[in-house]
Amino acid sequence: MSKYSIFTIARNALSHHKNWPRQWRSPEPQKEYDVIIVGGGGHGLATAYYLAKEHGLTNVAVLEKGWLGGGNTARNTTIVRSNYLWDESAAIYEKSLQLWEGLSQDINYNVMLSQRGVLNLAHSLSDVREGVRRVNANRLNGVDAEWLDAEGVKEFCPIINISNKARHPVLGATLQRRGGVARHDSVAWGFARAADACGVDIIQNCEVTGIRREGSKVVGVETTKGFIGAKKVGLVAAGHSSTLAAMADVRLPIDSHPLQALVSEPIKPVIDCVVMSGAVHVYVSQSDKGELVMGAGIDAFNSYGQRGSFQVIEHQLGACLELFPIFSRVRMMRSWGGIVDTCPDASPIIGKTPVEGLYINAGWGTGGFKATPGSGWCFAHTLANENPHPLNAPFSLERFTTGALIDEHGAAGVAH
Ligand SMILES: Cc1cc2nc3c(=O)[nH]c(=O)nc-3n(C[C@H](O)[C@H](O)[C@H](O)COP(=O)(O)OP(=O)(O)OC[C@H]3O[C@@H](n4cnc5c(N)ncnc54)[C@H](O)[C@@H]3O)c2cc1C
Repeated sequence: MSKYSIFTIARNALSHHKNWPRQWRSPEPQKEYDVIIVGGGGHGLATAYYLAKEHGLTNVAVLEKGWLGGGNTARNTTIVRSNYLWDESAAIYEKSLQLWEGLSQDINYNVMLSQRGVLNLAHSLSDVREGVRRVNANRLNGVDAEWLDAEGVKEFCPIINISNKARHPVLGATLQRRGGVARHDSVAWGFARAADACGVDIIQNCEVTGIRREGSKVVGVETTKGFIGAKKVGLVAAGHSSTLAAMADVRLPIDSHPLQALVSEPIKPVIDCVVMSGAVHVYVSQSDKGELVMGAGIDAFNSYGQRGSFQVIEHQLGACLELFPIFSRVRMMRSWGGIVDTCPDASPIIGKTPVEGLYINAGWGTGGFKATPGSGWCFAHTLANENPHPLNAPFSLERFTTGALIDEHGAAGVAH
């Protein structure tokens, strides 16, 4: 892997940037791999990278039906934080945040992590109680968290409207200063480049159309490029997890929903933090290009169409204007949707399935981008050791039969 540095940029500038090498190979699939990862999003690519880096497993392929990052990885609004309520969630998301903090150096690729602070607004007494409780729970788990009153919110984000005449006045907010945003497609590209350098085969335009079993054991996958054998198969396909698992006769407790987001025309820098509100249902940050990046909640119906309903956009813009009247004349530029995989307890599934050799990493719903490095790290451990790491052991599929659910619906009304 050629090392990226200021000197590489300067050297390539001399040749008008025409001689940059390809970042990863495009190999034809081999007959068999030790591990096949289905899904070339951030989570799948991170899994492949950590399999090679942490466990020395390099006879690995990532199969992607489209192009790298064409799924939710490059459709999300890039919020990164770790201030989840329950001990199990705080531990795994905090591990992820710690990996984020060293990721650009680790994979030698700038993922543009910007720890600009994430505010979760409170608009009612119950929001305040929930927020203060979460701050206390976070601190007990070693996660940085602060409670701000309305004036503190205004000081941190001067353009926010804290008038008590608003329909839902701002009463305070939780603040995680280490939270922020990162550049989503860089995450996919950076992990792909680093995994490829370790010998992982990344195969795009290769859709998995079937999962072949011999008795209770998985032996490989049928694809649009033919059958590929595998000792172990890891499904990391976000919104398509349940259709893939069904190919191996595994039924997942997952619903797939459209989730959309939008950006405004680029404007001068006006907001240097992330603001989320579960009650009025919108969240806003500003990209490095100057666009306001906004999202809200999922569409209530199940769908695999990557588009959402107009009323969700209308509602989120109404909510945005209530919080930021200054944006009233900003024009919206673009909206898009992705398919998110939601579990009944709003927590992911990372572990084994009833089929020997078949593993699943899914159910991240509306909030898996922030988990990308941590999820890949834990899933790689699980695949390599054929047993979960203590960090992901609570997120097993069995919890839906044992009843040991990890209900994170309350972690933030808009759970990104
Ligand atoms: C609009 C929107 C906003 C979001 N905002 C945030 C946010 O601010 N913060 C946050 O933490 N999270 C957010 N999320 C959630 C986050 O994007 C996802 O949880 C996370 O990206 C999912 O993991 P992934 O990156 O691996 O998924 P994906 O990138 O979707 O990867 C899965 C891949 O599997 C491939 N695939 C599917 N079926 C097959 C098949 N049969 N064969 C081969 N390949 C297949 C797909 O093509 C896809 O590339 C948001 C999501 C959306 C849609």
